[in-house]
Parts: sequence; C-alpha cells; structure tokens
Amino acid sequence: MSRRIPHWIDGEPADVPDRRVAPVYDPATGAPTGEVVLAEPGDVDRAVRSAAAAFPAWRDLSIARRQAVLFRFRELLEQRKGELAEIITSEHGKVLADALGEIARGQEVLEFALGFAEVLKGDYSVNASSGVDVYSFRQPIGVAAVISPFNFPAMVPLWFLPVALAAGNAVVLKPSEKDPSASLWMAQLLAEAGLPAGVFTVLNGDRVAVDALLEHPGIASVSFVGSTPIARHIYETAARHGKRVQALGGAKNHMLVLPDADLDLVADAAVNAGFGSAGERCMAISVIVAVEPVADDLLGKIAERMAGLRIGDGRRGCDMGPLITREHRDRVSGYIDTAAADGAAVVVDGRGVVVDGEPGGFWLGPTLLDRVPTTSAAYTDEIFGPVLSIVRVDSYEEGVSLINTGAFGNGTAIFTNDGGAARRFQYEIEVGMIGINVPIPVPVAYHSFGGWKASAFGDTKAYGRQGFHFFTREKAVTARWLDPSHGGINLGFPQNA
Ligand code: NAD
Repeated sequence: MSRRIPHWIDGEPADVPDRRVAPVYDPATGAPTGEVVLAEPGDVDRAVRSAAAAFPAWRDLSIARRQAVLFRFRELLEQRKGELAEIITSEHGKVLADALGEIARGQEVLEFALGFAEVLKGDYSVNASSGVDVYSFRQPIGVAAVISPFNFPAMVPLWFLPVALAAGNAVVLKPSEKDPSASLWMAQLLAEAGLPAGVFTVLNGDRVAVDALLEHPGIASVSFVGSTPIARHIYETAARHGKRVQALGGAKNHMLVLPDADLDLVADAAVNAGFGSAGERCMAISVIVAVEPVADDLLGKIAERMAGLRIGDGRRGCDMGPLITREHRDRVSGYIDTAAADGAAVVVDGRGVVVDGEPGGFWLGPTLLDRVPTTSAAYTDEIFGPVLSIVRVDSYEEGVSLINTGAFGNGTAIFTNDGGAARRFQYEIEVGMIGINVPIPVPVAYHSFGGWKASAFGDTKAYGRQGFHFFTREKAVTARWLDPSHGGINLGFPQNA
C-alpha cells in the first residue's frame, strides 16, 4: 500500500504532502496497491498555469518539429507498449491481450494525428474581389482539459491527446482515480520523446479537481468521457463557464438479430462484445433483440460458448478478468437480482463463478438473462458489467422501435444477410455508431467517435477530422495588397466586384 501516485506537472512527478488520497486496487486480488493523490483547487490552478505558460512556445513550434516529437512518442510507445499493458491490467483488471488491444486502438489515433499537417491545411481563394484574396486557417485553442473514465486508461486519453497536441495545444489530463498510472506512464514517455515541460500535465483527482477545471478561466476546452449523469453535469457547467465542450456519456447497446442471420456468427459476436473486458466497455453489447423465431436457438449457442470462457487473473491467459471495484461488482450483481425479481430467466448465472485467481478479487462471471422485461431497471439502466440480456420481439419494426425509444444512442448492431434490411436500419436507427454484422463498431481513427442522445453532449465527436475541429478555431482573412491607394469613404456593406 506504500506506493503513492503523484501528479505530473512541469515535466516531472509532482506530489503534495497532506492532500487527500484515494486507494488504487489490483482488481484481480482485491488488494490495495497504492494511493493516488487528489488535487485541491490550488493544485488545479498550479497545473493550469504551468500548461498555459508552456502553450505559446508549443503552438509556435514549426509543424515539422511538433511532428518529430509525436513521431518519437509513437516509436517509443510501439517499443514499450508491453509495459503499459501490464500497468493497465494491474489497475483495471482486463486481460493482457485486451489491454494491448486498447493500446492499439489508441495508437491508431496517434498515427492519424501525425498527419495533422494535411488535415489542418487552410483554404485560399484568389481574387474574391478585384485584387482581394480571402483565406482561412485554424489555430489551437489553448489549454485543453481531458477527463477520462476508468474503463480505457490508455485508449480514451489517446483519443484526445495526440490530436490536441498535434494541433498545438497544451493538455491537462484528469484520469480516473481508479487506474491513474497509465496516464503517468504516458507522460513520462512523452517527456522522453522530447515534449517540452508543461505541454502535457496529468492532474490526479476526483470531483473536486474536475469542478475546479470546469470553472478555471485558463481552460479553453473540456473533453469528457464517462457516465451520463456526470457527462451532463460537465457539459452544462463547462458551457456555462464559456468552454468548448464535448462530453461523451454512457450507453446501452442493442444488437438486433434478424431471422435470416448466421446464428453462429451472431453467438460469437455476442459473447465477444458482451463479455470482453468484463462488459466494462461503452461499446459493449448489453442487449440482444432477437426477432423470433431465433431466440431459443441463439440462446443455446451463446450459453454453449459461455461455458468455455476462462475467468480469472488477466495475467494468466484467461478470457475475462475481474470488475473494477468491489462496489461496482456488487452493483452489477444487484442487477441480476433485479432482473430475476422482475421476471427474467437467469440462464447462465455469474454469481459464485469459479475463477483462476485470488479469492479476494472483484469477480463476477458472465451472465445471460432471457425474457428481460423492458420495464425492468436491468433493461433500462446501463449495467456496465458482464451481463447480457435477451429481449424477444416479433418483427424488425418492433426491434427498431425498441432501440429508438431508449435513452442512449451510443452504438448498435444489426445481424442479417438481408442487405435491404441493413440499409434501412442504418437510416432509421437513432444511434451514432452502427455495425452491420460487426458487433463493436468503434470507428477507425480517420472517422470520428461519438454517440447520440444521452450518450453524448456537445456537437463534436472525438478524433478524426471532428477532433481537429474541436481543438482548433478558424480565422478568415480578407486581404488586399495590389492597390494601396485610398478608395474613399463608403459606409455601405462591402460587396464584391
Ligand atoms: P464516471 O462518470 O464515474 O467517471 C468519469 C470521470 O469523471 C472520472 O475521471 C471521474 O473522476 C470523474 N467524476 C466522477 N464523478 C464526478 C463528479 N461527481 N463530478 C465531476 N467529475 C466526476 O465514469 P467511470 O465509471 O469512470 O466510467 C464508466 C462510464 O464511462 C460508463 O458509463 C461508460 O459507458 C462511460 N464511457 C463512455 C464512453 C463513450 O465513448 N461514450 C467511453 C468509455 C466509457
């Protein structure tokens, strides 16, 4: 319990004695492995001032030099990502292969961001009026705050950092206090890559630090990823304080299975997308909407595959690890009780699972629920654990209507061999990211990530071109050089001639 996890300010670890701390656990053993220092408003102010002081020099560095730093970061990350995966597994619990998977998806964004010179090129119109040229270009916005959730301690920060930094901003990252070490490791690596001190800051903390960031006049933008109630609070508070905000929230992702689908493909996809990372993914599939008569067959195929899953310590080659904390495990387990009390059938029960791991770990096995009433909290709430629900419907239309009446709109998938149905689905469904025979449709880095409805607040998605738009603002210049002579006074609105 002795390890103390500091901030990263001014290019080095920064601790403040006598501050509040929060325990960090190894979820596979249940043992505390360290304590993370929690910033107070004064620490936030120090961090933001450091970032603000570093910003102008980074902004003014040539494109080639900024690219060189990020290229070195990319090389170092590629060489040493195994270390990062071990850190993720030790604090989050996901299995090592999955930790490497999230790093790979983060690397995609980094590699996309390396091409920023192309994305940020401006526009130029010659002779918009006689002798007048009009051009526009984008400039960084200043100090960007990023507030990230526990479930992707490397990938979610990497959705934003490379884009914000490439565009010339300074970044203050407030990672989840449950697994903060991945961020500090990346800060160290960025420093080794040559990033000037202060351009990237890790500020550890809880809601006190977040609220101080949202109100701080030195913060230009807030990028948040986390649960919906907090996302709403972030959006409203940061906007009220004049910040640019993108706040990605929770999810409840449905997979619509039509009767003509390949049920073996569906069962594989449902197990992978339902139980990967113990269901602690915002793009996890949590509800299968089975258009009858396929539900019984599909149920059998899914249950058969679940029987083969190895649950245990992510360092032991298992398929699925523990949940993030004891409290979260108990909350998820409580939803199984709720579903059963509301009339659902518990087909596979993860409570009391036998694991390849320490008994004190935060375990809950994969769980399959059938005939979940859509009025049950187990259906309407985001559970965020290894619980897959089946809801039976009689038609495509009933399935679409069910999905569209839900509060969330993050991801969804349709499984079918009918191209016409899939095409109709992609237009009719009110969800931001859609998979067609693909269960976790996380867009590649050169598109953008974000949901609809209660899954995202603000109008700009993460990464891709939208990411660059978020982290820059445009200037338009109207210039005349040819005729410096005085054209006389004219108070009319300028017209082109
Ligand atoms: P969370 O909302 O509890 O925490 C997210 C961040 O907000 C953390 O940094 C935390 O310290 C901070 N925070 C927590 N309570 C706060 C408060 N009252 N005021 C201000 N800040 C506060 O989320 P989590 O449990 O870490 O992550 C899981 C959630 O994130 C799930 O709901 C999941 O769906 C969502 N998520 C969404 C996406 C997406 O892209 N839409 C991606 C990943 C995770």
